[in-house]
Amino acid sequence: MHATDDTHRPELGSWVASANQPATDFPVQNLPFGVFSRVREGGPPRCGIAIGDSILDVSAAADLGLFGETELPAALACAEPRLNALMAMGANVVRALRAAVSRMLRDDTEEGKRAEAVAREILVRMHDAVMRLPAEIGDYTDFYASVHHATNVGSMFRPDNPLLPNYKWVPIGYHGRSSSIVVSGTPVRRPKGQTRNDPAGPISVGPSARLDYELEVGAFVGPGNTMGETIPIGEAASHLFGLCLVNDWSARDIQSWEYQPLGPFLAKSFATTISPWVVTLDALEPFRVAPAERAAGDPAPLAYLSGDDDRARGAFDITLEVWLSSESMRASNTPAMRVSRGRFVDMYWTLAQLLTHHASNGCPMRAGDLIASGTVSGPTPDSRGCLLERAWRGTEPLRLPTGEPRRFLEDGDEVTLRGWCERPGARRIGFGECRGVVAAAR
Ligand code: CA
Repeated sequence: MHATDDTHRPELGSWVASANQPATDFPVQNLPFGVFSRVREGGPPRCGIAIGDSILDVSAAADLGLFGETELPAALACAEPRLNALMAMGANVVRALRAAVSRMLRDDTEEGKRAEAVAREILVRMHDAVMRLPAEIGDYTDFYASVHHATNVGSMFRPDNPLLPNYKWVPIGYHGRSSSIVVSGTPVRRPKGQTRNDPAGPISVGPSARLDYELEVGAFVGPGNTMGETIPIGEAASHLFGLCLVNDWSARDIQSWEYQPLGPFLAKSFATTISPWVVTLDALEPFRVAPAERAAGDPAPLAYLSGDDDRARGAFDITLEVWLSSESMRASNTPAMRVSRGRFVDMYWTLAQLLTHHASNGCPMRAGDLIASGTVSGPTPDSRGCLLERAWRGTEPLRLPTGEPRRFLEDGDEVTLRGWCERPGARRIGFGECRGVVAAAR
């Protein structure tokens, strides 16, 4: 069990002035990892740490001798174009690197003074950088951990039997496709597929007419387990490197025709967008809370999914939002409209339970694998995390500020996910954006 340390103190400031602005997602208490390339100088992508409106080039700082011997191997691993090597090094190594970077970016340390003197060599402004996928994602699994989402969607398709009997016993998931995971900002092309909207009607092939987003949280796996071994619930958090935002784009018309009996397939595998910055579990330490209480009469999690630490603070208090803007809104400078706001604590299963369950049959989880939570929906209509629920299968269309109705996504729509953590006595930290524009089908 870890606790807050020197890096979390809310009064810490940085010599990078933009990191001290109250609204920044990236104060010195956050220090999320990502992979970037410099726009002008070119050169291979490498790992960096967000600070205010800039990126710390970690391996450049290592080359200049700014790290001690203890953190040096981890800092040098940041010269790679992906975070997998660092993720594999484990929670203690990442924590030590974080502590060193914190001292380096603070405005009240000797390390900070040395770093500020070479700021031009170790800092890159975000607008001079292009963000890449943070890791080589070997495997991607998407869960279904919100009981509110599962109940809402279930009630649309099976009004008499919304929640299947396994839901409260076993975390439900499916194997996603890592080849179509893209970083925030990448346009997403409307997929074509096979649909049958009327159960008695013809089967057609063409562009999806019911394109949707799903607001989710992703977790990157750290060291993981070897095949045949498991990850006990008490150790699961130490196998999670950090979290990002995930938009699991979904073609509802393709999905409803293909999903039985084996679950989602082509309705999901055309694109998944993730935010570029991975917020470490260490940074999230002040925002760990007890998971939502299960309803009276619900079964307790089985022993292998039940741990004292997970019960006490296995959830993360993250506020999550979806913003939508149409092409005509952007053309008329109309600000994006917020279409939902939810809380990650409303999930039925914790990330540790998802990881432990995933490895419980001996399936190896590898550094850089991504597991996603499933759509984050809460109990109220404005906390529903996808358009299918928000516009209730098209029967209650949203109205954009331009008067345009939205049942499902139209070409040119831009979906932006945001997430942040905030509580008294801690510095607010955020995830940045997870953004994508819908491009017309080819
Ligand atoms: Ca999903």
